[in-house]
Amino acid sequence: MTIFYSIVAFVYGTIFGSFYNVLGERIPEKKPVVMTRSECPHCKHKLTPIELIPIISYVIQGGKCKKCKKKIPTFYPLFEIASGLTFLAVYLSYGFTPQALVPLTLLSVFLITVVSDLNYLLILDEVLIPAFVLLVIEMLLVEGLGDTILHILHGLAAAGIMASIKLMGDFMFKKESMGGGDIKLMFFIGLVLGWPSALMSVFVASLIGFPISLAVLKYHKTNVIPFGPFLVVAAGILLFSGFDIRIFFNMLVNY
Ligand SMILES: [Zn+2]
Repeated sequence: MTIFYSIVAFVYGTIFGSFYNVLGERIPEKKPVVMTRSECPHCKHKLTPIELIPIISYVIQGGKCKKCKKKIPTFYPLFEIASGLTFLAVYLSYGFTPQALVPLTLLSVFLITVVSDLNYLLILDEVLIPAFVLLVIEMLLVEGLGDTILHILHGLAAAGIMASIKLMGDFMFKKESMGGGDIKLMFFIGLVLGWPSALMSVFVASLIGFPISLAVLKYHKTNVIPFGPFLVVAAGILLFSGFDIRIFFNMLVNY
């Protein structure tokens, strides 16, 4: 049955991924997110239900719009696959349990952030605020009031760490070193993973981001690279790896 449920989790992930992509693309443009059909970005052809099926529609149409035959961005199916794998990973780690809700909500915020930050250099309050309310409700239900307060304190500590890093960066580079969105994002990472893992994700994000940024700067005419996508990938890795900084502290103490 695990295989069956794994497939279900993956398929749900691709459907949610398709919706998250819509949110990440439309909220910054102030376009309505529901009750309007998706359209081809080139010819504005309204997509039929079959053209809306995640991944499969892309494969059937050979990566091209049915009407104008222009290329559909490869990002769409890749993002849907990434979202499917994310849901699958949550299912394999937590099963269909109440404990899966918090990581699933956080990772959903991460996925939408990847879209909005890559396309618009924006981390959306329209997403973060409802997600915070939802996370607090989920934490209260699953872990109770005491732990929920502790989680919020961890979030504040992580945001504080990020704000300090930003201040130092601004001072060193004599310009805005990162956006306020990254501080908000760190609040969420600290909220769910605790401040040590949030701090660790900054390091991991820098490790992943440095070579990629160099390559992007070399081949594209841009000098602004969002940090958010690297941060969420790093935090996602730490979430599933069960990283715990206390293991390192204990090693130091016992050495
Ligand atoms: Zn088209």
